[in-house]
Amino acid sequence: MYPILLALIAGLCTGLGALIIFIFKPTRVFMSASIGFASGIMLTLAFTGLLHESMEISYILAIIGFVLGALLILILDSLLPHMQFSILEKGIIDKKRFKTAMLIATGVALHNIPEGFAIAAGFYHLPAFGLFVAVAIALHNIPEGIAIALPIISAGGSRKKALTISFLSGLSEPLGAVIGVLLLSFALELIPIALAFAAGVMVYLTVDELLPMAQRYKHPHGMGFGVIAGCVVAILISTII
Ligand SMILES: [Zn+2]
Repeated sequence: MYPILLALIAGLCTGLGALIIFIFKPTRVFMSASIGFASGIMLTLAFTGLLHESMEISYILAIIGFVLGALLILILDSLLPHMQFSILEKGIIDKKRFKTAMLIATGVALHNIPEGFAIAAGFYHLPAFGLFVAVAIALHNIPEGIAIALPIISAGGSRKKALTISFLSGLSEPLGAVIGVLLLSFALELIPIALAFAAGVMVYLTVDELLPMAQRYKHPHGMGFGVIAGCVVAILISTII
């Protein structure tokens, strides 16, 4: 139950992101930096956390899991809606913008499933490592919540709608943890593959979706600074936990 609870708390942080934009209006530099921040956390977690732990057990399984994780997203990507969007771009009718906003929310909700799975895999490997994965993902989810809520509001959606949708998209996180618990509690030998699999998913999603999303807010250095800040924060969390 513990990894599922951790994933639920991490998932709820997506809703927290929506609350933040009720307080102030995000600028382009804020958006590119905060999505960059979410990316930096993800990459550090994947390489220095998940993949590293998997490689300590088996290099071969780490490579297999990593490639399988990336391949899964590559395949899903061609079948499912993508996190493409056009927020802050003028001259687009609201209906279309709202549809785009919903695509972002769906994209984040879908990618929260493997994140929840990563929390479960981390937990079965080592409970303290599971906690680190959960905290890192929770922090990464706050900017994602902002990235969901902002397009909804600028498409004319109400605050309540923005908050509800970002909260709902966070709920797929415990779903991923349930899948992880069901799979790994019966097959502990799959843990190294599961850790590397989660890393493969995260690296692919970050490079293919989060970083391009940050770039669309068009600020020359916001994303870069955000990525570095995210990396630093993830390293700090890993040393604290
Ligand atoms: Zn995420």
